[in-house]
Amino acid sequence: MLGHNTHPISESLFRRAAEVLPGGTTRATIERNPVPIYAERGEGPWLIDVDGNRYLDLNNNFTTLIHGHGFAPVVEAVTRQLQLGTCFANPTESEVELAELLCSRVPSIDQVRFVNTGTEAVMFAIKAARAKTGRPKIAKLEGAYHGAYDWAETSLNSSPANWGEAHPASVAVAKGTPVSVLDEVVALPMNDIAATEDLLQQHGSEIACVLIDLVPSRAGLIPLDPNFVKSLREVTERLGILLVSDEVLNFRQGYHGAAARFDLKPDLITMGKIIGGGLPIGAIGGSSEAMSVFDNSTGPAALPQGGTFSANPLSMVAGLSAMQALDEQAFADLEAMGDAARQGLTKLFKQTGLPLCVTGSASLTRIHASSRPPRNYRESYLTPTKAEFFKTLSRSLQSRGASPCGGSLIVLSTAMHDVHIEHLLTAFSEALREDEKLLRLGAQLMKEEKGNGHNG
Ligand code: PMP
Repeated sequence: MLGHNTHPISESLFRRAAEVLPGGTTRATIERNPVPIYAERGEGPWLIDVDGNRYLDLNNNFTTLIHGHGFAPVVEAVTRQLQLGTCFANPTESEVELAELLCSRVPSIDQVRFVNTGTEAVMFAIKAARAKTGRPKIAKLEGAYHGAYDWAETSLNSSPANWGEAHPASVAVAKGTPVSVLDEVVALPMNDIAATEDLLQQHGSEIACVLIDLVPSRAGLIPLDPNFVKSLREVTERLGILLVSDEVLNFRQGYHGAAARFDLKPDLITMGKIIGGGLPIGAIGGSSEAMSVFDNSTGPAALPQGGTFSANPLSMVAGLSAMQALDEQAFADLEAMGDAARQGLTKLFKQTGLPLCVTGSASLTRIHASSRPPRNYRESYLTPTKAEFFKTLSRSLQSRGASPCGGSLIVLSTAMHDVHIEHLLTAFSEALREDEKLLRLGAQLMKEEKGNGHNG
């Protein structure tokens, strides 16, 4: 039996935090179970909290840390750069090197611009598409997360109460979002070729870009149907719409990125997370043609883009070291480990008889509270029982020394090996067999699935 943890220091930190941070945190995504677990340090695949508890870090800062914590080449490169200077009003060789690496690896990228977050990367990709086409609207998949730019976040968390019938509704995430923003976003039904073609045809002359994530994580980490992707590329080309592949999260799908895995040639790709080696970063890449809107070498750019910390040398050298270590073998090893985790979990779920299944590929795996994988955002939507199940699972796994994101997203790193996959499977096995609240919720899930007359 793995250890059960207590968190007195985290509890006292959270009490202090509640006084000075709204809600006691700085990120809406921080889990409170019932209080956030405050990190003290990381060691390779492990996270150690302020109370001295150890967890297999299966979150890796929301998929960023593809080498785990304290990856030596990154530590050395950043330490060296700290002595040389943290930021300049001048470019550095490191940004050229990281840009060269990305352009050489990703078939549809000729040129890159760096920013500081994925949100910013998506914002500039949208602005680039507007500048290129002179059109105001964007289209995006219902339920897909692309950061916090108003247009990009629209319909991110639609619910049965507001998601619309015939076509997905444009639903605001933040209270006070201007109606004009919602009018400028066409929400598309994931993997529905006919309805999507119809919507794009209808709004085509006003749409600057279609923004997609090929394996949208919050919409269930469900890979887009290859025929849907093919149709999107054909329709966008026909209607003069740019296709933007947001790979802020899914760049870790392979050595050449996610689009290459889907045999897709998008006009623009946004990146972030792993390309910064654990430091803040975002990037927009694409064909020279699409990227020409950023070019200010002969006069003002169609899209001026700057940023005080854009291409800061700390992020550049950290990203370069992390990416250089990610050769094709590293991706193959991550994929094999991911497959082993998915197979092990699937076997365990069968043994327990609970209505659970997995989706995902490469180093990313998501658990669903249904007998068969959902096919779109609406099918993966969490009912109250499912939400409670994952919250309980998260707490139960944490007390057994494993911390996947939200109890359902498992993110692997190159710091992990077979022994860590075994640790993960043991934690799940114990939680699903011993945690009485989980067993009660599992029984409730089974009842609800039967009651719905389907297993999706
Ligand atoms: N796009 C996608 C697909 C993402 O997953 C994320 C972050 N999870 C973002 C954009 C935003 O990135 P950031 O948090 O760095 O702003």
